Amino acid sequence: MTATISRTPATDEVVLEATGLTKHFPIRRRGRDVARGPARRVHAVDDVDIALRRGRVTALVGESGSGKSTVARLLGQLYPRTAGEIQLHGKSTRVRGGGRKFREYCGRVQLIFQDPFASLNPVHTVRYNLTRALRVHHHAGRGRGDLEAALAELLNQVSLTPPERYLSKFPHELSGGQRQRVAIARALAAHPEALLADEPVSMLDVSIRLGVLNLLRDLKEQMRLAILYITHDIASARYFADETLVMYAGRMVEGGDSETVTQSPGHPYTRLLIASAPDPDQITGTGERFAITDSGEPPSLIDPPAGCRFHPRCPFAMRRCVDELPPRIEIGDAPDHWAACWLFDADTVAGDTPGSAAKSPASVVAPTSPAAVPASGAIPRPSAPADDAGGNPTNPGEAVTR
Ligand code: SF4
Repeated sequence: MTATISRTPATDEVVLEATGLTKHFPIRRRGRDVARGPARRVHAVDDVDIALRRGRVTALVGESGSGKSTVARLLGQLYPRTAGEIQLHGKSTRVRGGGRKFREYCGRVQLIFQDPFASLNPVHTVRYNLTRALRVHHHAGRGRGDLEAALAELLNQVSLTPPERYLSKFPHELSGGQRQRVAIARALAAHPEALLADEPVSMLDVSIRLGVLNLLRDLKEQMRLAILYITHDIASARYFADETLVMYAGRMVEGGDSETVTQSPGHPYTRLLIASAPDPDQITGTGERFAITDSGEPPSLIDPPAGCRFHPRCPFAMRRCVDELPPRIEIGDAPDHWAACWLFDADTVAGDTPGSAAKSPASVVAPTSPAAVPASGAIPRPSAPADDAGGNPTNPGEAVTR
């Protein structure tokens, strides 16, 4: 099987949209700390705009601690937000856990978590886990026949066939790939319009990740789902997502269609992510065009840097970067490709020199124009392993019994 990039025709129907999404977690204080100054907060997510469109996958990429999972939980309304608005089909919505409105919202927006073993109840069978989801969302039908048909359809949708082989299994009797497929089936039991997939393949063996990503892509195309795909693997974003957004230290720093963001990255942080991705070209020394050497760690989100949050690590930092937060600036090489970086502001670059405020100035060309950034070949496409519906490459549907 050859890995292919699937691109869904653009649709403008926005299913779920957030504007100015912000989440600050207060730090609990004890003892003498209570009397010492104002309460401090973790600035996990600041001023994030994101739109999920019907039949499209939006990837949210960034390193650990960048706020990606918090965005998913905010969109799923598992956390109350500090500021910002969430709209479902253009209608502002704010729900709290447990109530009828929350269940209605969950019927339209479902989350898939990173660890399928932790997200499925380990003392109950697949039948119980799926039946409960169908009943909670009123899709179990009227009698036993309807329920059996609904269970079979769910397992068929996630390629766990024949369904009767899996219904009586416990989560520990399934492989990691099969467990994640059951978790996806449970999400589908709600008949959602949007799926928020938080690192859905990062805990799976490399050999079965592509099978689960292909399943999600097929579901997107068949059911016209709006999917948020959260990952730290920018290579898989290129393969799987129509649009890619890059997040750093709680803020969005770059966005555009996946091909453009991964092949012509604008923001220095995106270039760093790509330079860090496993790439045979880089190993052989031909991947230098994106070579940015890392010069530090992500900042503390309790007291994040002023100006551009990437400036302590950025080899192109200028004086303005230290004081002023860069807005979204159109890069101009492709429609809707933007970066929150002063390098793309002509006046800033004309009055300063990229790297003048950097701790370790770069030896590579600053990406001040599309021409400075090479056109193709940055991210390798993943090679296709044997398909997985479970972990047995010769019989994909077979359960692994431990
Ligand atoms: Fe941030 Fe300035 Fe570097 Fe752009 S050049 S990423 S604005 S520090």
